[in-house]
Amino acid sequence: MEFKILADSFDKVEKVSKRLEMTDLLAELFEKSDVDEIARVIYLCQGQLAPPYKDIEIGMGEKYAEEAIAKAAGYTKTEVEKEFKKKGDLGLVAEEFLKKKKQRSLFSAELTVEKVFKNLMRIATVEGSGSQQLKIKLLAELLNSASPVEARYLIRIPLGSLRLGIGDPTIMDAFAINLLPEAKKDKALVKKVEKKLKEKKEEKRAEEFDKKLRLAIREIIESKYNVHSDLGDLAETLKRHDLKGIEKIGIEPGIPIRPTLAERLPTAKKIIEKLGKCAVEAKYDGFRLAIHKKGEKVTIFSRRQENVTEMFPEIVEAVKNLKASDAIFEGEALAFNEETEEYYPFQVTIQRKRKYDIDKMAKEFPLTLFAFDLLYANGQSLMDLPFKERRERLGKIIGKNKTIVLTDTIITNSAKELEEYFNKSVEKGLEGIIAKDLNAKYIAGARKFSWIKLKRSYKGELGDTIDTVIIGFFKGKGKRTKFGLGGLLTAVYDKKSDSFKSIAKIGTGMSEEMLESLFKMLSKIKKEKKPVRVDSELKPDIWVEPKYVIEVNADEITKSPVHTAGKEKGEGFALRFPRMIKLRQDKTPEQATTVKEIEQMFKKQRHVSTGA
Ligand code: ATP
Repeated sequence: MEFKILADSFDKVEKVSKRLEMTDLLAELFEKSDVDEIARVIYLCQGQLAPPYKDIEIGMGEKYAEEAIAKAAGYTKTEVEKEFKKKGDLGLVAEEFLKKKKQRSLFSAELTVEKVFKNLMRIATVEGSGSQQLKIKLLAELLNSASPVEARYLIRIPLGSLRLGIGDPTIMDAFAINLLPEAKKDKALVKKVEKKLKEKKEEKRAEEFDKKLRLAIREIIESKYNVHSDLGDLAETLKRHDLKGIEKIGIEPGIPIRPTLAERLPTAKKIIEKLGKCAVEAKYDGFRLAIHKKGEKVTIFSRRQENVTEMFPEIVEAVKNLKASDAIFEGEALAFNEETEEYYPFQVTIQRKRKYDIDKMAKEFPLTLFAFDLLYANGQSLMDLPFKERRERLGKIIGKNKTIVLTDTIITNSAKELEEYFNKSVEKGLEGIIAKDLNAKYIAGARKFSWIKLKRSYKGELGDTIDTVIIGFFKGKGKRTKFGLGGLLTAVYDKKSDSFKSIAKIGTGMSEEMLESLFKMLSKIKKEKKPVRVDSELKPDIWVEPKYVIEVNADEITKSPVHTAGKEKGEGFALRFPRMIKLRQDKTPEQATTVKEIEQMFKKQRHVSTGA
């Protein structure tokens, strides 16, 4: 496919203001892509060359990109630099310079997606002496053959500033649109959808059939995405073999699985009422890690499916001693002082998130991995086994191991015992407990009652913190003028519409250093207008791309006409006295607290009682 088609689609996507329009544009683009290139098209739409777990970052410096533009357009680096200072967006600078290009290149050829991808991949992977010059050459070569609009994106992609705001759910929705005609021939699927529409009136049914069928297709795709987090790969299979083709996709070591998540209930009593006899585990406050072992090869994925293997050398070593040739299991890693038997606070554990001196850190504060679930072992998926069996097998595989241990747990059907265990855990400095349904399957990528969390909370606080996404900020006033940032506008995620809905303005809980670093981080992702997937009636001084998640505490969830989260009859949800706790680097914006969760928390807080 010509790169021009992709660039034109990007240009259109940038201009739309509604997510549905964006979805239609993507559906059109995917329809035009061949089987062999659809994966590349998908990755490029998200400004990547591969899914995040493959850890391929193009990471080109601005200085080198400026040089490539100068080279391709026949201007000096200083001229390009000057324009960049004025415009603040090198993509636009490239576009402008190519419009007034001084020289016609001799070897310009039509750019294809394949060629662009190939050069960008080389830029991402060349190393060693002379690699910088080669990167400049590779980019200049592409620019040489590019039209001005193509140049805009050829620069933004390697700089990591494409930011079209295309989320994974939107890509899946676009696919559902394209698969509709094929799905209509699938009798079983059609029957299932018709059954759902049975109660509706005749004309309503016809109207809603396509919509419901599309949702059903999306659900099928998502259920596969949950166990195989590679949209490019899935898209290729869908193109090749339609929906039937992805049926065979299952979990395999090396490809991340989306994590199962915990529901909330306010008391021990309610948890026992819901689950009956259950496992109750300590809730540790560290990094959630998914460990994949394939023979000797160990890969560790974070909560957001990034490859973080290098951060945990002591865990990699320990995994090699497991009694299984292949395995996928999960645990929470945190710094634990064996001598005093104390857990270090999260601030100590988080220090592992660094590029240098990891070995030194691993010696000073070795981490313990508290393992809690086993999803795969020796060539077999165990996701459908009941939890108690998975746990038993996990224990056997771990055996005696100093670094990897099972989470502390009790099995009980008594609310009193659960409560005592909770209190004991909190006294030990833990976050609380997670109760688990002994018979539940592992449900990837969903928040269900197979896990229920109960966290410590203090007077005047919600039973749990909320993870909100920053969608904009307000300039500082008074004492805060010097930081450039006085407060944040934040949102929660609405899964149904794949958008971010405003819930709180936050101005407290940030130290001066935090204000400074937030300003720096957010300045890099400023947006001229409200991003397509953001829904907010409040207007911040500066909009930003929804990217960063922060953990927030509040006294209460209230109703307010100001915010759009869960808005009905003119009132949405708001947080009372919100304060920032910390940045949650382990979460993607789509993993923030959802509108549905807020609604549930709002209902529950009215009947919160203490004690069992
Ligand atoms: P929180 O902010 O409470 O951690 P969350 O949104 O990150 O919430 P939840 O699904 O609400 O995630 O809570 C489960 C998280 O608790 C897991 O992602 C994991 O990181 C952590 N955790 C700690 N101990 C355990 C345990 N024993 N079993 C399962 N998860 C645990």
